[in-house]
Amino acid sequence: NLFKQTAGRPHSEELYREALEHIVGGVNSPSRSFKAVGGGAPVFMKRGQGAYFWDADDNRYIDYLAAYGPIILGHAHPHVTAAICRAAENGTLYGTPTELEITFARMLKQAIPSMDKVRFVNSGTEAVMTTIRVARAYTGRNKIIKFAGCYHGHSDLVLVAAGSGPSTLGIPDSAGIPNSIAHEVITVPFNDVPALEEALSRWGSDVAAVMVEPIVGNFGMVMPKPGFLEGLCAAARRNGSLVIYDEVITAFRFHYGAAQTFAGLPEGTDLAAVEPDLTALGKIIGGGLPIGAYGGRAEIMLQVAPLGPAYQAGTMAGNPASISAGIACLEALQEPGTYERLDRLGAMLGDGLAQAADAHGIALTVNRIRGALSTHFCAHPVTNYDEAQDTDGEQFALFFRLMLEQGICLAPSKYEAWFLTTAHTEDHVRATLEAADRAFEAMAQT
Ligand code: PMP
Repeated sequence: NLFKQTAGRPHSEELYREALEHIVGGVNSPSRSFKAVGGGAPVFMKRGQGAYFWDADDNRYIDYLAAYGPIILGHAHPHVTAAICRAAENGTLYGTPTELEITFARMLKQAIPSMDKVRFVNSGTEAVMTTIRVARAYTGRNKIIKFAGCYHGHSDLVLVAAGSGPSTLGIPDSAGIPNSIAHEVITVPFNDVPALEEALSRWGSDVAAVMVEPIVGNFGMVMPKPGFLEGLCAAARRNGSLVIYDEVITAFRFHYGAAQTFAGLPEGTDLAAVEPDLTALGKIIGGGLPIGAYGGRAEIMLQVAPLGPAYQAGTMAGNPASISAGIACLEALQEPGTYERLDRLGAMLGDGLAQAADAHGIALTVNRIRGALSTHFCAHPVTNYDEAQDTDGEQFALFFRLMLEQGICLAPSKYEAWFLTTAHTEDHVRATLEAADRAFEAMAQT
């Protein structure tokens, strides 16, 4: 094997065999398995520091997974670690309100002003699930419209795919979800306002909300086309439906704020016209500990218990460890130059990957938004889910493995993004580009 730079992974393989005996599929989230990249043992990590993590066999990797997004400061950032330790020393859970929660809610509201009121939960899934309940409570309607390929967590309503043909009711994407629930969801293509308008004209009087990742992170990184978010918001409002932004990946990813307040949206975007009614958050805002949050306009959030009839609760919600880690993470992100640096490294990485692929005659589309990018093995642009699906999964799997063998860790799926962190340096990116060049060279020969 051309790339046996790492010393093999016998411990990971042994741990995988053991894990399979006790944990379903050996993993606690299916995206961690290597099923989409040819199978076999996933890498078992045991330590992370900055831009690196180390596996059970002591192989070192440059990490672009960033735990699927939260680890924007790199592993074990000292400011976050200190905050977590302090919180632990004071007791990890009280079941009462704390001042920390107010501090953090205020920080989030300042950065994302569409949220008049906030509620903390424990995951992105919970945050999204609850925004849907609140939208239904507020509008008295049942259906939601979502966009193909956007992922919104694993609650019943959003694990629904498009039916066949344009503008049809959904079909369950998972066993265990009744058709009666899937029928409350309509899936339309991303970046397609006419398809949304058609769906609204058919089912509009029962559509509680239109839910979207305003910048997509789940079939690669995909920018909304100019006018898409404006068209979406206008169509929803005309119809009396709420707009829900799932900013679980995007908030604090590209700048100190959310996609909805990002000056890097397509030129001419009127930020006032694309403001959502409700927003779901997660990932980065927990600094690496479990968290989710949702918020929105005060009159809508009034629906939530104890003020209103929409029930939502949580034993662990707002726990001092997660909130402390989140505050520390956002404080660190306020450091001047943070996002400019991520952008610079992102450009170096994204442009370098595209050039290296091109030099070896490999068709590769790189979508990049500041420090987040995605690599699609195809010659066409990727602006929606169909285009992201129509890419070479086998080539991605080969690339993934060739990179892993050289100590570069990507997410094991052609749909997932690469995330730069504040711990990455030009040297890391340079080493990554050298590895990618060797990988493309080998791929060109197969
Ligand atoms: N929404 C989006 C946009 C996500 O990417 C994810 C997770 N990848 C979720 C929701 C669900 O978040 P969690 O895994 O924390 O439940």
